[in-house]
Amino acid sequence: MQEALFYSKSTNEQLKCELCPWNCILTDGQTGICKVRTNHGGTLITGVYNKVAALGSDPIEKKPLYHFHPRKNILSIGEVGCNLQCSFCQNHRISQCKASEFSGFHNISAKKIVTEAQKTWNNIGIAYTYNEPFTFYEFLLDTAELAHSKGLKNVVVSNGYINKEPLQKLLPFIDAFNIDLKAFSNDFYKKYTKGKLQPVLDTLKQIAKSPAHLEITTLVIPGLNDNNSEFENMINWIATELGESVPLHLSRYYPQYKLNAPATPIETLTELYDLAKQKLQHVYLGNVSDQKRSTTYCANCNAPLISRNHYNTEIAALDIEGNCKNCGSPAAVII
Ligand code: SF4
Repeated sequence: MQEALFYSKSTNEQLKCELCPWNCILTDGQTGICKVRTNHGGTLITGVYNKVAALGSDPIEKKPLYHFHPRKNILSIGEVGCNLQCSFCQNHRISQCKASEFSGFHNISAKKIVTEAQKTWNNIGIAYTYNEPFTFYEFLLDTAELAHSKGLKNVVVSNGYINKEPLQKLLPFIDAFNIDLKAFSNDFYKKYTKGKLQPVLDTLKQIAKSPAHLEITTLVIPGLNDNNSEFENMINWIATELGESVPLHLSRYYPQYKLNAPATPIETLTELYDLAKQKLQHVYLGNVSDQKRSTTYCANCNAPLISRNHYNTEIAALDIEGNCKNCGSPAAVII
């Protein structure tokens, strides 16, 4: 049984978990909203240490990360649990499952995962993904620290729902993040994720200030988060608070889990793409076949730098330092 980090005890034997913005108060035997952290006789324990539910090697582009070691693979792991409850979750079988009720775990140590990553072909490191990685914080931290000591990279794909202090402790070991910004309205967050918008914005700002590479994904859901003026507010906020070179992925929604609205029309995606391109240098469409809007262009001369056709990636015009071969400008791509 592994003791969790970031909690405090109160006098009446309740515990306060301080890992994420819920700050759950837990009586003995009670498990938090994330479904994995439990008050066990006055000690907060994590039910998912050394327990992996999904493991595989993916192209880095699948995370999605388009500006971080293109054409490389990354060993990807996930567990169970999530601290949000999105009604459109694509991985609800593992994200919305209690650790105590899941039967498909593989017991794997951090050392074994790191060894596996070192053996995997064309692999740059480890991605913590599939379910919400912050809910397996302790295992993530230990694995990431060990991976770094062996020269591997660490990538976190997350909903961004974490408190400031635990994120700060993790930052030195994480090389790249893809954070979901699910909408730019607190009402949307409340209704469709059960969370709040502000903690996600705080996380994005904290990461943007750190040396870690940051990309953002927004799943565009028709009628729920595709309002043009709300979207423009989001783009303005990203450009102002995070920087106009932060890549934004606009993903096409398909009916999932509890949401059965029809798939996002292609016209909606292209319209939002055009709006985003007015303020941001690197915008991409995901979950659709659109080579033009999956290509990385030089922000200075507009030369196509990296072309993508699904997961076939071609580096067309980047030098080994990540500069545009056409005009020599830095391309905001880590090679
Ligand atoms: S990590 Fe889990 S137990 Fe801790 S505050 Fe968040 S939801 Fe609650």
